[in-house]
Amino acid sequence: MLFSQQTFLVAGLSRSGIAASEYLLKKGARVYCFDDVEEGSVAASANALKERGCVILKKGDLEARQAECDILVLSPGIPVDHPLPVAFRRAGKRVIGETELGALALRCPCVAVTGTNGKTTTVTMIDGIFKNAGKNSLACGNIGRPLTSCVEELQEDGVAVCEVSSFQLETLYSLRPHVAVVLNIAEDHLNRHYNMENYIYLKSRIFKNSAESEYVVLNYDDPVVRGFAEKTKAKVVWFSCREPVEGGYLSEGCFCYMGEKLFPVSELPLDGEHNAANALAAICAAKIMGVRSETIVSALKTFRGVAHRLQRVGEIGGVTFIDDSKATNVDSAIKAVLSVRGESVLLLGGKDKGYSYEPLFDAIKTSGVVHCVLYGENAFRILQAALKKGFTAVTLCRPFDVAVRVAFLTARAGQNLLLSPASASFDAFRNYEERGERFREMMDILKAEKEARGAVRAAPSVDDDALGE
Ligand code: ADP
Repeated sequence: MLFSQQTFLVAGLSRSGIAASEYLLKKGARVYCFDDVEEGSVAASANALKERGCVILKKGDLEARQAECDILVLSPGIPVDHPLPVAFRRAGKRVIGETELGALALRCPCVAVTGTNGKTTTVTMIDGIFKNAGKNSLACGNIGRPLTSCVEELQEDGVAVCEVSSFQLETLYSLRPHVAVVLNIAEDHLNRHYNMENYIYLKSRIFKNSAESEYVVLNYDDPVVRGFAEKTKAKVVWFSCREPVEGGYLSEGCFCYMGEKLFPVSELPLDGEHNAANALAAICAAKIMGVRSETIVSALKTFRGVAHRLQRVGEIGGVTFIDDSKATNVDSAIKAVLSVRGESVLLLGGKDKGYSYEPLFDAIKTSGVVHCVLYGENAFRILQAALKKGFTAVTLCRPFDVAVRVAFLTARAGQNLLLSPASASFDAFRNYEERGERFREMMDILKAEKEARGAVRAAPSVDDDALGE
């Protein structure tokens, strides 16, 4: 790509769009930027980019000016069948993502992680292990640090641990990871990818450039992911929670790798078999990259988890609040209800992504969930699934704050109040982080109210005094 002679249109000014624009400016390219939204934080970003030399296109100018652009850098938030990328492709022009720009510039080995669930947790584990081994490792990509903003920092001796989503895989062509990890595939984002075949195909693109010289780490317990072994020439290393495999597995309650016992599963500070699977995937990646067992074990034993993923955030009157706001699909919520110990009142709901909630209620019926409080845009769809599955311990309250209150009133001492919504947050929040923060704020409000009630009860009232006399 000859940056100085080409004009790029960066569409979508979120974190990755801003990083792509800055990167392209540094490379001497001419950069046009566009976003549907022209107010608020987007306007602030657009102004900052304008000052640095970008041309900001308004909605009205887009059609006329796009002919001046050679390459479209598409935000992962914009589907590839949106009219803008369609027009570029029709005109024979390249459509790439920010991750593609980063992949083209990357000078160090890359461990790339994809899958429906567990990407951020696993990337954080692998990055933690590498840092523990003294490597210059950066966790990047979908985890929040765009790849283009890391390429300068990552010298030849570094390692990029890159989280790659299906949205990013739509416009990623050149990445050739030394290790590609596929964690699992469950129903998700069907509103964007239309059907499972397409979604599965996109996930397989993470190893499309891998050959005999590279490695692919695959989940043996997931039938779809297991099938990927037939689609690659790379060396396959398996992980499994169910049986001994050529790679990472569990045996006699311990994490093992290729016949070597590493440490007891009970010493991983995260609950749930799904997190054991994530740790196994991390072990495989670290072993392939030559990290010593002691270094892997000490990093995993001290792993602190990631915020908004089955995170215990506090307790009121014996009710434990667990924030799993990142459970934005049915599979992750199933993992939550099956791995949280004891009884729980479950908060479910948000923006619908077009899949069935019935498998969740099959899991709920075998779990410690005693009651569900439904909220948000898809509350009625979830209710229908609950009733179809014969689960009737359900309360419906649309606004989130009210739902948290009702869930708290429903939970008894010793139970959990679990936010694991099985839905996106965009019906009422900017993102899942904001939803998780609101959950925590509601917990603080409920705690303060409880303390205030306690104080009123404890203070002798005038009448009480009179009685006492
Ligand atoms: P991602 O980055 O793929 O969204 P996260 O690590 O952020 O994954 O976790 C998202 C949600 O999925 C959380 O609710 C978490 O508890 C759950 N989760 C984590 N690992 C797995 C897994 N291996 N399988 C299913 N669910 C998982």
